[in-house]
Amino acid sequence: MNLHEYQGKELLKSYGVAIQEGYVANNLDEAVEAYEKLREQTKSDFAVVKAQIHAGGRGKGGGVKLAKNLDDLKEHAGNILGMMLKTPQTPGGMEGPGKLVRKVLVAEDAYAPDFDACKEYYVSILMDRERKCNVIIYSTEGGMDIEKVAEETPHLVHKEYIDPTLGLQGFQARKVAFNLGLSGQAMKQMVKFISNLYKAFLGADASLFEINPTLHTGDDRIVAVDCKVTLDDNALFRHKDLAELRDTDEEDPTEVEAKAHHLNYVNLDGNVGCMVNGAGLAMATMDIIKLSGGEPANFLDVGGTADAARVEQAFRIILKDPEVKAILINIFGGIVRCDRVAQGVIDAYKNMGNIPVPIIVRLQGTNADVAKKMIDESGLAVHSAIQLQEAADLVKEVLA
Ligand code: GDP
Ligand code: MN
Repeated sequence: MNLHEYQGKELLKSYGVAIQEGYVANNLDEAVEAYEKLREQTKSDFAVVKAQIHAGGRGKGGGVKLAKNLDDLKEHAGNILGMMLKTPQTPGGMEGPGKLVRKVLVAEDAYAPDFDACKEYYVSILMDRERKCNVIIYSTEGGMDIEKVAEETPHLVHKEYIDPTLGLQGFQARKVAFNLGLSGQAMKQMVKFISNLYKAFLGADASLFEINPTLHTGDDRIVAVDCKVTLDDNALFRHKDLAELRDTDEEDPTEVEAKAHHLNYVNLDGNVGCMVNGAGLAMATMDIIKLSGGEPANFLDVGGTADAARVEQAFRIILKDPEVKAILINIFGGIVRCDRVAQGVIDAYKNMGNIPVPIIVRLQGTNADVAKKMIDESGLAVHSAIQLQEAADLVKEVLA
């Protein structure tokens, strides 16, 4: 689950990480209110207006603007709120439709008082799967595309691996600061920044923190100006407060609905809908669809209980995708018996009336033969198979 910038910053702040302060606003009035509050605190007329969407590169698309007075603020907030913001990271990139901006963060001008003395660094924390530990990735080349920096000047991207049993050691935080070229007060601030950032990362069960830019101000403070946070969905049950920050407006609506029904569903680009039990079998099913000349339209794991209600929900979710030209149901009857799944498919089919695409059902495991007979005798336009290859051939046949 991703957080908005303003939510991520609140999280960081609660762990003592210095952030670019600000207030979130849902409309122009709230933006003005936020600006007045901020001006009271900073004694400055400068503030930035930042679009809150789950995508980076907002600056490039016109989603981050500096206001020098109240009129500026009104103009920028008015333009950004409600705009379809295109960034390199929104669906379809700069050529795509963009994403609707529903909120803005009105934040202090973090680059004050001396813009020219500011330096932008890159800092992120994530899990390194090969080394089986967390890694802090950092660079002096912040504010811009880190991918580009990594490609063109890889020696400027540093990595600090954290031993999970020891945790982040003091010398490691100092090494980060040293490699960023810091000394004195700035070094002290960076050590504190990195240490608290790492505590926040562990404390929130995050899978990604990306603070780009991490700002080194003219007066030697270290401040999180941007903040991308991804939390581990599987740990959210330990963080009810963070789970509440989910913004379903930012997510694929079909995936949101699937989640509400406890179906593991990921929308993909292809034309063959899949309904499978178990993640491994779902992957194998997607492979066999590809080998038969189709492209999977989704990943869908219905889990252990493939009864009629669940199968029907899965059908409905798969059919929301207009690209779907056939559906392959591939269920292994281990815990659930195949004849029960077959009954579920038949009942769901009858319940839904007309399903406009061919359906191939492959049931294997306990009572597979009974299940096949039930499907074949149901009188429904459903193709049945027991072997996976048979099912694949049927997919090819119906797509031809
Ligand atoms: P992103 O484009 O989505 O990555 O959004 P960022 O929060 O990283 O902001 C983009 C850019 O806007 C930064 O790299 C800065 O150059 C600029 N920016 C952000 N906050 C401020 C600010 O407080 N003052 C000034 N002058 N520029 C800012
Ligand atoms: Mn950024």
